Amino acid sequence: MNTGGGTNLPVGQPEARPDAGPGRLPRVVADGPLDATIEGLLRDRVELLPWTVALEGSAEPVEGMYTYGHVLVDGAMLDRLPGLKVISNYGVGVDHINLADAAARGIPVGNTPGVLEGATADLGLALLLAAARRIVEGDRYARSPEFLRHDPGFMLGREVHGATLGILGLGRIGHQVARRALGFDMTVLYHNRHRREDLERVLAPSVQFVARDELLARSDFVMLCVPLTDQTRGSLAARELSLMKREATLINIARGAVVDTDALTQALAEKRIAAAALDVTEPEPLPRDHPLLTMPHVVITPHLGSATVATRRRMAELSVENLLAGLRGRPLPHPVAPPGGGPLTKDS
Ligand code: NAP
Repeated sequence: MNTGGGTNLPVGQPEARPDAGPGRLPRVVADGPLDATIEGLLRDRVELLPWTVALEGSAEPVEGMYTYGHVLVDGAMLDRLPGLKVISNYGVGVDHINLADAAARGIPVGNTPGVLEGATADLGLALLLAAARRIVEGDRYARSPEFLRHDPGFMLGREVHGATLGILGLGRIGHQVARRALGFDMTVLYHNRHRREDLERVLAPSVQFVARDELLARSDFVMLCVPLTDQTRGSLAARELSLMKREATLINIARGAVVDTDALTQALAEKRIAAAALDVTEPEPLPRDHPLLTMPHVVITPHLGSATVATRRRMAELSVENLLAGLRGRPLPHPVAPPGGGPLTKDS
């Protein structure tokens, strides 16, 4: 995909190249094939190496790592690449990178915040509406031979306006979801580990901080916007699903592994919750014969949260800015804070 458009990155200026020694471009391992926009931004700046180099190691020094499709990065891999100066991730979610292992080796990790929350929140609302108003089911029916007359009593959905939305994780994406929900006259409940009174003031008066169990019990729609961490992995399991209303819908735009897939499948099969709308699943993709794929009250998209032309372009630019800064030993413009500390640069 070539999305075109401008970039803030200087193009084709030899002096802008990261220094990798005389006459050679810095070597960067990436899990391609990369988007053509990213390849264009990296052309003549770095030498791209295949991911097998990260898996097997290399006799030649490798200065950079670019993670594109949620490949796993751990300490053993980093030890195979001792000259690594930076890891740049395409996207905000860095659950596939062991941040403690990177920090222990002094390797800064960059991601792409501030450019994708609008698109991801848009998709969250699209999934919420699709599940509530049975849009995917209705589309299938409207195309089928069965649709021969309009029946006003058929395919009734659940009301969105005036309903209560519970957001687990009122961060960058959760905030944008809340703003959109207020446009639908929804009452918004949220839960984080830390209360966000700053956002409550901005979103007043219809946003309320509550305990997680209360959020699950009171919400008509529960939307997951938390990162995948040791704390959140599997945190929406049988007990949590049992707290939700029978008429409630679960929407997951975070990471599939935040939810216990088996527990969700069972809750939906037994109609203990009304519906689910999932942009992310665990595993991803689900096996092609997974029961969730046959359920009419489940909407699934293939991890499309930030997948718009404009957002992907900005993600490409930010991730390349991080990569080039790290290769030069400079602070990353968009660093991920390592566990328990401030941002790193390799040479700091
Ligand atoms: P963010 O700004 O860091 O917000 C995350 C929120 O989750 C924060 O409010 C945080 O608050 C809360 N949180 C973290 N751990 C928690 C816990 N154990 N219990 C309750 N709340 C917790 O992150 P973001 O940019 O909004 O992105 C969130 C996640 O969305 C990413 O990590 C990524 O996995 C996912 N994502 C998915 C897509 C997609 O394509 N579907 C696109 C982009 C991002 P506290 O720290 O106070 O708890």
